[in-house]
Amino acid sequence: MKVAVFSCKPYDKRTLTSAALNTPLALHFFESRLSLETVSLVKNFDAVSCFVNDDINAEVIHLLKEQGVKCIALRCAGFNNVDLEAAKLHEIKVFHVPDYSPTSVAEHAVALIMSLNRKTHRAYHRVKEGNFALEGLLGFNLQGKVVGCIGTGRIGAAFCRIMKGFGCEVLCYDLYPAPELVDLGCKYLSLDELYQRSDIISLHCPLTTSTHHLIDEKSLKKMKSGVMIINTSRGALVNAQAAIDALYSQKIGYLGLDVYEQENAIFFEDMSSHIIQDSVFQLMLTFPNVVVTGHQGYFTDEALNHIAETTIANLTLQTSV
Ligand code: NAD
Repeated sequence: MKVAVFSCKPYDKRTLTSAALNTPLALHFFESRLSLETVSLVKNFDAVSCFVNDDINAEVIHLLKEQGVKCIALRCAGFNNVDLEAAKLHEIKVFHVPDYSPTSVAEHAVALIMSLNRKTHRAYHRVKEGNFALEGLLGFNLQGKVVGCIGTGRIGAAFCRIMKGFGCEVLCYDLYPAPELVDLGCKYLSLDELYQRSDIISLHCPLTTSTHHLIDEKSLKKMKSGVMIINTSRGALVNAQAAIDALYSQKIGYLGLDVYEQENAIFFEDMSSHIIQDSVFQLMLTFPNVVVTGHQGYFTDEALNHIAETTIANLTLQTSV
């Protein structure tokens, strides 16, 4: 079975090649992302493997079908970049990797919190310049703080468990409360109550029509002044302009981001040049109380191996039907 692997980085090639040993899969690697512009690379392939940045819209799916593609194996959890209706219409199966190391993303959310609460991102630059002054670096303890977790699925639940370990009061919001978190002492309440009571709010729900711009001018008004907001989920959960206004007014005291609304345009068109032209993003970088990373929450050795093994298992399953 011939598989076209898109958005392929050297580590994808390494882990997928190793996982595909002794399978009937023939992998062909492409660095470019799959989109209308690159779909012509798919000639007589049985399957494609894609990542979060690939644009698998209805037109792309139609063209994939014409090339005989029967399956799309995503190497990520989210599938908001795939037109599922079109895939269903063309009888193309879509696989994803739902639970690659929730711990990796949860720990990354905690890393963003811990950079912000002790200002280590600023201290690092100072000390490298030989400056040991502590002015402006006053931190605060996490113990005893109220942490709100929106979305308590795999990643959110792992995040709640870690924050409980820090001695935080953990408040949760989800459409489907998890009994094991309640047993652990986490409290489910309404979104408004979570906004009102939390010192730190971390987003772990998927991007849907109902969560698009969940953090906006209206919801920010309900939050504590100086609240810390962490987003490792999907960029469009936060209205970036509203976040910038709230940073100026100091309603947001700290902001930690791993994901961005314009992420595809910002990061994936030409990652090698690292030219980030989005003006809202540029403005975001000017605030000392903002910490940014480039969608690396999942990026651990453990998660990469798990992603490769699951993707190869999904594709191998397809060869047997
Ligand atoms: P999951 O499906 O296990 O959990 C999502 C939870 O969100 C579920 O419990 C669901 O009930 C809840 N939810 C759905 N709609 C909601 C709403 N309107 N309000 C509140 N909760 C709602 O998913 P997961 O594996 O925990 O992943 C969560 C998100 O993390 C993914 O959607 C993805 O966008 C993101 N993610 C980011 C990275 C990264 O590297 N930064 C890696 C993997 C996943």
